[in-house]
Amino acid sequence: MIIVMKSSAGRKELAEVKKRIRELGYKPHVIHGTTRNVVGAVGDERGKAVLQTLQTLPGVESVVPILKPYKLAGREVKPEPTLVEIVPGLVVGGEEFVVMAGPCSVECESQILETARAVKAAGARLLRGGAFKPRTSPYAFQGLEEEGLKLLALAREETGLPVVTEVVNPRDVELVARYADVMQVGARNVQNFALLKMLGQLDKPILLKRGMSTTIQEYLMSAEYILAEGNRRVILCERGIRTFETATRNTLDIAAVPVLKNQTHLPVIVDPSHATGHAHLVPPMCYAAAAAGADGLIVEVHPHPEDAASDGPQSLRPEDFRQMMTRLAAFTDAAGRTLNGAD
Ligand code: PEP
Ligand code: MN
Repeated sequence: MIIVMKSSAGRKELAEVKKRIRELGYKPHVIHGTTRNVVGAVGDERGKAVLQTLQTLPGVESVVPILKPYKLAGREVKPEPTLVEIVPGLVVGGEEFVVMAGPCSVECESQILETARAVKAAGARLLRGGAFKPRTSPYAFQGLEEEGLKLLALAREETGLPVVTEVVNPRDVELVARYADVMQVGARNVQNFALLKMLGQLDKPILLKRGMSTTIQEYLMSAEYILAEGNRRVILCERGIRTFETATRNTLDIAAVPVLKNQTHLPVIVDPSHATGHAHLVPPMCYAAAAAGADGLIVEVHPHPEDAASDGPQSLRPEDFRQMMTRLAAFTDAAGRTLNGAD
């Protein structure tokens, strides 16, 4: 249910509404609007009619049911976009089109430092790199684990770029959170509800990738798991879905960007690397993402793709990344967004 407060309602009335919601066995989530506050009351769908009694409380304007199954992720409760602050001065979902870039996997000190310097010089705002890798084969490189996290921290120290890295296992949440600025949930874990619940309890932004076969509704329900635990800083990422097509690694569902933007207030970025699987297809999909209204990109870049431990064929060389960033400016401009310029 959405409890819409009167614009004249003060703190006391709001506190009373929250208290009553809890007494009725629901969880209150306050959304502070510019003119009025609304409170989302979420919990067991079966007895929700009892929340109608809140209508009689002072300060309450109306009580209306939330029609969509994703209560907190939807625009019904929060029509205005969510701005996810990564670090002071860096926000995803606002005016700036934010580009995250780096290797698929962290491999060694020189590789991550060289990549970090290059992507920063080209205008990237975050460094990506996997330390825990969810590989299809148990025999493939699984990541450097904590050593990789330390190398990411070193690259952050040198370049000032915040880092985004994946957490694969609920057991590692605490460890990864000690190093990461943004915790990535990979496509394969989009419905790992135990992991999502744990991430919902963190005070850290979460980059939640779409699963390769999740519908948009299922995807938003996954975001809801994080939001329902109290963490509002969720960034969505379209990374391609599995279809009959084999010319590309996945099929970039570019329409998912405006669909998501319509359904949810959460920021939406695009991963053109996993979506296509081929480096030469990455730049055009970067431009398409900007044109479609995405809030940013996450792009794989490797100084020597031919030697990459994972995802070499889809990784841009630093020089190709730089060129892509230069051309991207025209598209972000046309979309009414700003782009951090190259050095
Ligand atoms: C990755 O970002 O390297 C990755 C494994 O992505 P995805 O979960 O989208 O496959
Ligand atoms: Mn990868």
